[in-house]
Amino acid sequence: MTGLPTLAWQHRYAELPAAFRQAVMPTPVAAPRLLAWNRPLAQALGLDPALEAVAARIFSGNEVPEGARPIALAYAGHQFGHFVPQLGDGRAILLGEVLAPDGRRFDIQLKGAGPTPYSRRGDGRAAIGPVLREYLVSEAMHALGVSTTRALAAVATGEHVVRDQVLPGAVLTRVAASHVRVGTFQFFAARGDEACVRLLADHVIARHYPELADADDRYLALLRAIAGRQAALVASWLQVGFIHGVMNTDNMAVSGETIDYGPCAFLDAYDPAKVFSSIDRHGRYAYSNQPPIAQWNLARLAECLLPLFDRQGDEGVADARAAVEDFAGVFGEQWLAGFVRKLGLQSQDAGDESLVRDFLAALEAVQADFTLAFRALAVAAGDPGFEELPALPKTPAMDAWLQRWQARCAREPVGVEERIARLRAANPAVIPRNHRVEAALAAAAAGDLAPFEALLAAVRRPFDDAPAQRGYMAAPAAGEQVLQTFC
Ligand code: AMP
Ligand code: MG
Ligand code: MG
Repeated sequence: MTGLPTLAWQHRYAELPAAFRQAVMPTPVAAPRLLAWNRPLAQALGLDPALEAVAARIFSGNEVPEGARPIALAYAGHQFGHFVPQLGDGRAILLGEVLAPDGRRFDIQLKGAGPTPYSRRGDGRAAIGPVLREYLVSEAMHALGVSTTRALAAVATGEHVVRDQVLPGAVLTRVAASHVRVGTFQFFAARGDEACVRLLADHVIARHYPELADADDRYLALLRAIAGRQAALVASWLQVGFIHGVMNTDNMAVSGETIDYGPCAFLDAYDPAKVFSSIDRHGRYAYSNQPPIAQWNLARLAECLLPLFDRQGDEGVADARAAVEDFAGVFGEQWLAGFVRKLGLQSQDAGDESLVRDFLAALEAVQADFTLAFRALAVAAGDPGFEELPALPKTPAMDAWLQRWQARCAREPVGVEERIARLRAANPAVIPRNHRVEAALAAAAAGDLAPFEALLAAVRRPFDDAPAQRGYMAAPAAGEQVLQTFC
């Protein structure tokens, strides 16, 4: 198209062999209208500011910009433990890649832009609720310091989609380090196509793990590196109380970013067995099951990469097994380091793991709010706080724990001010509370974007508890709790 701002597209993925993807054009929509435009992200990507004025046309899929090369990606995946040899982008279309001014490469993908050859029975569309949920939650995760894909734009289509109800449609523009999933490897491995597994592994090394290009046994090194990033990622989820909801192997990105926000949710009350997703009937993806599930997914990745290892046969299997088993140790270190930070501690001590576990147990016993309880530690450390912030639960277990914690703090050469600052920096005040998210999405579906915009502004400053933020800090009242989320 002429007259549109130009983007400097690149197409490393689209240049892989034909089996990796299918060319497909977005299906135009009736009446595109921009719902949200992520200006800070557009700036970070170095996009032309003139794009904003034409964003509704481009990021609905109605006008494919010059130089874009729209494709749907092939992948497979284990869904709730059952292998599906062909999934693929059924409602997502990759326009291409851009290089940010800092040299990082990002995919620009439209989600909900119409059917693709992988759609099967689906309509290729998305409803406004899930689109704005992904926008809100991924921005919150980014602000919380969790590795994640991001949302560049949300555009209403002016059309309806039929789900349980008839809902307004929208298209999300997703920005990701890449869209290579564990399931992408599985797609080729299941076909016995070792050459494509190798091409994909080399693509992933070049793109995400360039330091491994000359490593010994580099595909084993790749497995270990991906496992390391997943360990850090899932630890960071647990530290903010995040439940992904659908950790199928096709929803695990090898870049280490959180991807595919569906029926995800944040904990209110601390409950390790918590599940929100309506489709997760057996709690496979419960809060505390996320680390073993990540490890299970990595075992599936190991099966794909195994034929490429230097050592084959029993030795290769032993290498794969060791790499997957190491995940537990690496995860444990990341988990502990993060929770020790959340206790406001400067360094780590031998007794700290039980200190963390006992705090969590004390929260679980009274179903205390996970986010506010950690934030309340700053008050316990001497932060004046404010009236709306509930104090820590007053139970004998908690009182005893507080004495231990204070004694532990006293052994560090850290003053009160610094302790408070550490606690405030490690423990968010504002997370996207499920009841707030649901209310914002319902209002948006009814045509009022104001609650979405206000909530988005709040979750972008998660560590800020200024008065304007406080309405977003509160845990849900008894009647406000969200019990289930839907994708
Ligand atoms: P998800 O549950 O979003 O991870 O998607 C699982 C699979 O279903 C992927 O292959 C999607 O592309 C596909 N899918 C989900 N929703 C739709 C839709 N509305 N139309 C077509 N395919 C879809
Ligand atoms: Mg998915
Ligand atoms: Mg989904």
